[in-house]
Amino acid sequence: MHSVECAKPALTRLMWLHKSGEPPDHADHQITYDHDIVEICPSCNGATIEHLRHDCFDYEAVYDQYEWYELGPEDGARLRTLAARCDRPLEPFCNCATHKALRTSALALPSGSWDAIFEGSAHRHIITVSDGKKPAFTLVRTGVELPKPLEKPKEPDTEAVGFIFLAWPALLAITLFGWFRLVHLPWFLDAIVVLVAIPATFVGAGVILAAGKVILNRKRRSSDKQTARD
Ligand SMILES: [Zn+2]
Ligand SMILES: [Zn+2]
Ligand SMILES: [Zn+2]
Repeated sequence: MHSVECAKPALTRLMWLHKSGEPPDHADHQITYDHDIVEICPSCNGATIEHLRHDCFDYEAVYDQYEWYELGPEDGARLRTLAARCDRPLEPFCNCATHKALRTSALALPSGSWDAIFEGSAHRHIITVSDGKKPAFTLVRTGVELPKPLEKPKEPDTEAVGFIFLAWPALLAITLFGWFRLVHLPWFLDAIVVLVAIPATFVGAGVILAAGKVILNRKRRSSDKQTARD
């Protein structure tokens, strides 16, 4: 759980406490997979234990039952010190004293009921961790909602505004030029056409801009995929 001010950078893996079976995307996966991993924020030390129980015995109903145990920055920092006691914090089968104590107490933490319809908050809990020879997790509160990160108001897109104010007069000029060249009616009808052409070309410029953005986004996404594959 990040501190309130933390701008929510991604968490990094701090410790692997428990593993049973191989994950679903692994070649040796068989029906069940369990894990308890500790992730921590590199900037604020807020940490989360992710507890996953996967079961695909019934082909129709694959269960991915998650519980999340959140530690505030102070507890996260304590956990970081504890993890440093072990030479292999990311080894789920390590049996050092720290690993053993944390594993036992993590597995004893309560889980939310899965009978009800999935509700994220029912499976999110706040815990603390104690120091000492036999460190242990303790439940503080269950069924919590994470504070939502503050949403930044969208900045006006200056590039888009620039584009509109270039494309609009250009489009208007082309339209009027074409009109007087090819059609040209009595003056009062021409006046109406000009009046209509002003907002119509503005909308036209907007449509071109939107279409351009869609194409650009699609290109960007496919090139992202390309780099991901490389
Ligand atoms: Zn953070
Ligand atoms: Zn499975
Ligand atoms: Zn260990």
